[in-house]
Amino acid sequence: MRRNWFTHVIAVAALALGGLGVATATVTATAPTAHADECYSWPRTLGSGASGADVTQLQIRVAGWVPRGQVMGIDGSFGAQTKTAVANFQRAYGLSADGVAGPATFSKIYALQDPDCTPVHFSYAEASENCGRGFTGTAAQKENMKRALWRAEALRHQLGDHPLRVTSGFRDTTCNASVGGATNSVHLNGGALDLVPGDGSTSICSIAKQARYAGFGGIFGPGYPNHSDHAHVDIRSSIAWDADACSGW
Ligand SMILES: [Zn+2]
Repeated sequence: MRRNWFTHVIAVAALALGGLGVATATVTATAPTAHADECYSWPRTLGSGASGADVTQLQIRVAGWVPRGQVMGIDGSFGAQTKTAVANFQRAYGLSADGVAGPATFSKIYALQDPDCTPVHFSYAEASENCGRGFTGTAAQKENMKRALWRAEALRHQLGDHPLRVTSGFRDTTCNASVGGATNSVHLNGGALDLVPGDGSTSICSIAKQARYAGFGGIFGPGYPNHSDHAHVDIRSSIAWDADACSGW
């Protein structure tokens, strides 16, 4: 991945030098860091009509910024939903909200992602406790976990950057059965998270309620059987929500 980083710096430098004669020092300051590129670097600005694997990578990271009741279609095509999500992401992080993902947007994403492509405030490890056995799943299940964690990162920011704790994420069939999970639980494919407050600043109900604005298809909390002590959120593509013991639900 180091080569990607190097190539990108050269491209940025060439652009600046061929443009307005911007000082080289500025180029150095705005280049993505090597740390970020250990995960993924976007090679170009992305806006409406763009398509490709880089759009898919962007959609994964802004999927928690779609309007209430929507689930991001992660399809590699930059349409109206992606534009809205990018604009909401930009607004939430104090950037110019034009719905076009350029260097400033990608710099913010780089700052938010770890070398293993999980968002900074969550990890694969905490989402794969799996009854003490750790992650035993497939690459596709790990990808689902990543997609859920990026939505959790958005949710965390929306709740005022207070810590959230994952009490259960990926579960294999043995673990899922032992904790009484549904036989078709989204935990089995890695795309579900059980969340609790990480400090005294938020509540299970506030997590469940805000999750409606963070791109989660499945949300179950207080009022749904066996969900009084956590908020379950998942990345199913349809909407299935129930936390009706929460006031204001
Ligand atoms: Zn759950």
